[in-house]
Amino acid sequence: MSWKKSALVATAGLLTFWISSSHRPEEGMFPLNYLNETELKQAGLQLDADDIFNPEAISLTNALVNVGGCTGSFISNEGLIITNHHCVYGSVAKLSTPEQNYLENGFIARNHSEELQVPIPCKVLQSYEDVSDRVLQGLEAITDPMVRAQTIQDNIKSIAEKDQTENPELKVEISEMFVGRSYTLFRYIYLQDVRLVMAPPLTIGQFGGDTDNWEWPRHNGDFSLVRAYVGPDGKPAPYSEDNIPYTPQKFLKINPAGTKEGDFVFIMGYPGRTFRHESAAYLAFQEEHHLPRIQQGFKYQIDAIKRHTEGNTAEQLAFAGTVQSLENTEKNYRGKIQGLRRTHLVEQRKMEEDAILEWCKQKANDRGTKVIEDIRSIWAQRDAMAPVYYNYLLMNRQSTVLRTLNQLAQLEFKSPESFQDEEALQTILGTYKLNNVALERDLVVHLLNAQNEANGFSYKSADAFLAQKSQQGDRNFFQSSYVQSLTTNPNAILKDPLYQLTRPMMLRSAEIANQWKDQETLLQSLMPQYTQLRLEFQESLGGDHRFVPDANSTLRLTYGYVKAYSPNDGEVHYPYTTLDGMFEKANTRPDYRLPAETADRLRKDNVPALFKDPKTGKIVVGLLYNMDTTGGNSGSPILNAAGELIGVNFDRSFTATINDYAWNEQYSRSIGCDIRYVLYVLKYVSEADHILQELGIQIP
Ligand code: ASP
Repeated sequence: MSWKKSALVATAGLLTFWISSSHRPEEGMFPLNYLNETELKQAGLQLDADDIFNPEAISLTNALVNVGGCTGSFISNEGLIITNHHCVYGSVAKLSTPEQNYLENGFIARNHSEELQVPIPCKVLQSYEDVSDRVLQGLEAITDPMVRAQTIQDNIKSIAEKDQTENPELKVEISEMFVGRSYTLFRYIYLQDVRLVMAPPLTIGQFGGDTDNWEWPRHNGDFSLVRAYVGPDGKPAPYSEDNIPYTPQKFLKINPAGTKEGDFVFIMGYPGRTFRHESAAYLAFQEEHHLPRIQQGFKYQIDAIKRHTEGNTAEQLAFAGTVQSLENTEKNYRGKIQGLRRTHLVEQRKMEEDAILEWCKQKANDRGTKVIEDIRSIWAQRDAMAPVYYNYLLMNRQSTVLRTLNQLAQLEFKSPESFQDEEALQTILGTYKLNNVALERDLVVHLLNAQNEANGFSYKSADAFLAQKSQQGDRNFFQSSYVQSLTTNPNAILKDPLYQLTRPMMLRSAEIANQWKDQETLLQSLMPQYTQLRLEFQESLGGDHRFVPDANSTLRLTYGYVKAYSPNDGEVHYPYTTLDGMFEKANTRPDYRLPAETADRLRKDNVPALFKDPKTGKIVVGLLYNMDTTGGNSGSPILNAAGELIGVNFDRSFTATINDYAWNEQYSRSIGCDIRYVLYVLKYVSEADHILQELGIQIP
């Protein structure tokens, strides 16, 4: 279907609300088959919508790549992909050793044979199909929300399986585009052989570390290059030495001139999840429980890892990816908590919802009233369950010992026979391995005590227990050989003191987690009605309203401008940063570490004007814009009005972390690495003239 036809369907059909006549075009991550060309052109786009997305011909969309959950784009006809440094960070850490530390020093392959395999599969959108009718088939007669939700899931599964059989070379996924009413089937080319081509030194790629993460002004070169390979027949294939670089259907043209303040820009990418239409109770729960509990749990783990790996580079490299991702979420959640408090979003949503309830009562809409009341009541139950539930989540996530003890307890609980099943035990215990025993002990004590407290101190205190056991020096769950020996000896598990200590706690926690799962299904099944109610209520108010689609990890477009902002009273931030700013920060705190050798490479005389902001005459590093992005947009290409690459998106400002719940022109800003800095680092730090040549870039 051509774009024009899709637009017609959109205006005539269910999805009109995605294209409101609002004058706030910067909010919204639009599915590519529902772009509003008029609005885009009015905003500044110089292309036709067909140039961006056209299922019948090659368009910009064909240059977009989902890079293991981040976004990237092809920038050469030899499968070269640009994405973020933080998207390959964990893989680069794994490729590094204290002697050959690519994470610290950076990496550049001088030719194809030097490129290093990374476990980051890439997906390229090949075709799509609206399957809403088929997914919703037979649902008219079903009124029970739980049965409806289950039928939808069953339909999705069978449609996807059938399509996958018909297209074995592609990866088929069905995504819910609008809760309970719109479903799209996507077919992706799945490229498994991906290799690292270039990563900047850590002190460039992550300059500013956790201190600057989620902040503007920003001075890091958060970009990297990988290359996709296919089999000699041109088809996707697992890694093999015989593989050849993939030829994409389209690659982006780089515009080395960059942008200036006020320029129109747009981003295409794979934003993860947003929650713009959630209930007041959901938001209140996020503020009171979900965000602070996860944030504090992650903070403890980060500090513990740092304490127990201090001074040991090999261990630090082993935990580098974990720490980076924990810190990223921990700070993001702090931003969201601050944002929720500052914007009073919960109170606002509650007022809106009360007005909807009132409206339902006036119209005698009992079903509407019940939907809101049911949602509120589920979240109220969860308030009481939250301490145990979140600790249980953390126990399973953060500690190998506790996760294993829990799996054993659940197995035994299922039936004593399954506990005698050697194969089942082997699955749980066979690959048991602890990376750092002291760290593990620390986490086990902390988590067990927290769970004991959450349960009103019904269990034994873990630290006293473990101290006593370790003094006795008995064999225990902190030794891999002991744990592996249990595979054939379930009776020893039953007698293990730590197993006995944790078993009742694990069973009680699992009970809560199961109730939580049932509540989740119920909540999911109520969401279509709730969203519909909000939509109808907004429509009943008339006037200008906007009902933007939530992100769901499918390809989207967002647009806006390179734009300054004022995050706090009395502060105005210019939308570009420069190398001068980086040098001013350099070595003033640990996160601003800049070794002399890297600084020397960055500090060049007679730099061509191309790299400089014409307004300040300084070498540009970062840029800021008011586009609507979220996690998953990491690595997304930032494009100018002509669709040329002018930067790589990598972050949002602290005040914009809340835009997963609500977007606002005042505080929502995203952050990118300017293309001029990408080229500067390639030229002077990586000395990658061969890459610049591949990109067709001439630097005078
Ligand atoms: N830096 C971000 C991330 O890690 C990108 C974003 O969420 O805006 O996911």
